[in-house]
Formats: sequence, structure tokens, C-alpha cells
Amino acid sequence: MEHVFPTYARFPFDLVEGHDVYLTDNNNKTYLDFTSGIGVCSFGYSNKVIMEKVESQLHKVWHISNLYESQIQDEVADQLTNDDQLAFFCNSGTEANEAAFKLAHKYTGKTTVLAFNNGFHGRTYGAMSLTGNPDIQKGFFPLVPDVEFADYNDEKAVSMINSDLAAVILEVIQGEGGVYVADKAWLADIQKACHDNSVLLIIDEVQTGIGRTGTKFAYEQFDLDPDIITSAKALGNGTPIGAMIGKKKLASAFGPGTHGTTFGGNKLSMAAANGVLEQLTPEFLDSVQAKSTLVWKQLNDEIKPLPVVTDITGLGFMIGIHLDESVNVSDIITKLHHEGLLTLSAKHNTLRLLPPLIMDEDNLSKGIEKIKQVLS
Ligand SMILES: *Cc1c(COP(=O)(O)O)cnc(C)c1O
Repeated sequence: MEHVFPTYARFPFDLVEGHDVYLTDNNNKTYLDFTSGIGVCSFGYSNKVIMEKVESQLHKVWHISNLYESQIQDEVADQLTNDDQLAFFCNSGTEANEAAFKLAHKYTGKTTVLAFNNGFHGRTYGAMSLTGNPDIQKGFFPLVPDVEFADYNDEKAVSMINSDLAAVILEVIQGEGGVYVADKAWLADIQKACHDNSVLLIIDEVQTGIGRTGTKFAYEQFDLDPDIITSAKALGNGTPIGAMIGKKKLASAFGPGTHGTTFGGNKLSMAAANGVLEQLTPEFLDSVQAKSTLVWKQLNDEIKPLPVVTDITGLGFMIGIHLDESVNVSDIITKLHHEGLLTLSAKHNTLRLLPPLIMDEDNLSKGIEKIKQVLS
């Protein structure tokens, strides 16, 4: 990769073909996938419904622009929103958060946003400024001003919420940060402080959303009612897409000319999202929950007792296996490659698992068995 900027330390193989929950590399080695890209291809690599929708759209029109009405955007928005919400379509998670950041500023007329240490919201200047990770911000100062940070799951954060804030942004499970789940009572306190002080609550569901934790959005399991929700990753099962979903009252600040995108809402990505959302039925989500119960039982019975494992955190199909200092998560990932299993890492020496939601119990169990072998 001589002519590509070295922003990624890449593993030395190329995944050239995918089928179901398997990927094959350029040396013809096949892997079981516990990554879904990075929480993207939740319906695997050959989902018929999504492929048919994209293929059919491919023969009609790929791109036009947002200067015309779009029935396919309406179809996706209808599936993503409730009666009191609107959607804005873009191309990635960072863009969805960028839209949320801009909207919060413009709607409230205030600039200060409270975000969280160890959080992740993306790599553009706005989203990076909200990302509480010094390694990601290093070398890029000055950032967007007026962002404050608090510790996650810390009551002190609640007392930092006052009427000078435009918004609070958080993930209900910090994904990149190491798969840390928010405390339900703490989130309720955060939300109440936001309501009492007319501060917008923005929930970043880029990684946790679209069924990853067993509900359409993870915040549903924490009884929250956010003003803005951001989505991306799994929404297009691999086509570039992002969405910001916000309450209708916010529309007054996002009129014609305030924000825009060339590719956002393009018809190919919308066709894929249509295929994803059509299949994200209550029955499908029930099946994800049922399978994840088995997964978590196996993790607790077989992985948690291993000497190198300090903790296992997460929810549904979003799993963080925390490793002690005696092992390095990158070495574990490489060993798992040799065993034919693709996995991910997250901050704090965490082995992160984001298997496709369509994976059956047998493959889920086989993958965990390989992890047990390697960690033993
Ligand atoms: C991946 C991620 C983002 C950034 O999404 P991109 O599509 O890479 O821009 C933002 N927030 C969270 C929680 C993420 O996991």
C-alpha cells in the first residue's frame, strides 16, 4: 500500500470475498467473522433482501442530489423515526455527530457541550472535539472551543449540567473506549438534569444502534427520550451512510441552506438501509436477544474464569473481553487470525467482539471456543 497514507496499521492480508458470516482473503484462507466490518455488516456479506434492493436501485439511478424530493429517503426516514422526529441523512457517523453538534448550537443559541472522557464521536474537527481521548486529539489543537469533559458514570457529571450548556452528548455503551456500559440510574439523572436546564440530550448510537444490543437503539433499554440520536455504521450494512434523528421542534434551526451534503441520502445507500430496516423486525430483534443470552452464558462460564481475563462487559452482540497486562490484545487478534477468526480491539487492552446479528448459535459458540483456546 505504497501510495496510501499510513493512517492504519493494517493486517497483512486482504479480505477479497464475503459470504454469509465468512470472509475469504487473498491467500484463499476463510475466516469466521466476529467484527461485521466494525459493527457495520450486521446482516453479513450476502443478504438477499439488501442485495436485491441495491441491485434494483443500481439499474434506476445512483445519485441525483438533495435538490429534489426523494421517496426512498422518505421510506427510510419513516422506518427510523417516530411521529415526533425527523431525519437528516449523511454519509458517516462523524457527519451525523457533526450535524447534531451544529444543530444543537444553532437551535439553543448556546455553544458549550458536555461530552465524556473515553468517549468516541468521530474524526472531523467537530466530532473529534467531542471525543474524550487525548491520543485522538493530539497534534490537532486548537479544537472547536467550549467542549467540557466529565467522567462517564460519575455523578459529578450531573452537577456540571446547567442552563449554559447547549447539549450533552454520550454513548450509552462506550464502544471504542473499551465497551463500557452506562449505569441506568446515572443516565436517568443526566437526562433529568438536561430537561430541568433546557439542555439537549444527544445520544450517539453509531455503534450501539440498529439492533446491535438486541433493540433497534440501545437507549430504549435505558428508558431514555433523547432530543437527538445519531446513527451510521450498520444502517447501510456496508454502504456509506449516516443519519441524525431529532425531535420535530428542532426543524426551525435547520431550514434550507443551514446544512447540507452532496452524497447524503443517496439512493444506493438508502436502498441498502431500506433492506436493513425492513428486516429489523421485533421477531428478528427477539432472535438476537435469545442468541445473545446463550453467548453471554458461554462467555461467563468459559471465558471469564480464564486467568488473563479481568472482566467482560457489553450488551447483546457488543462484547468487550478485558485482558490483563500479561497479554497484548493485538497479539491475541493475530493468533485468532491463524485460527480463522476475525476479531477487533478497543481501548484498554480490550478484545472487542461485534459478530453479525445473523450469526447462528453454532458459529457463535465455535468462535468463542477459539477465543478460549487462544486465551488459554
Ligand atoms: C464509529 C463511530 C463513530 C464514527 O463513525 P464514522 O462512520 O467512522 O465517521 C462515531 N461514534 C461512534 C460511537 C462510533 O462507534
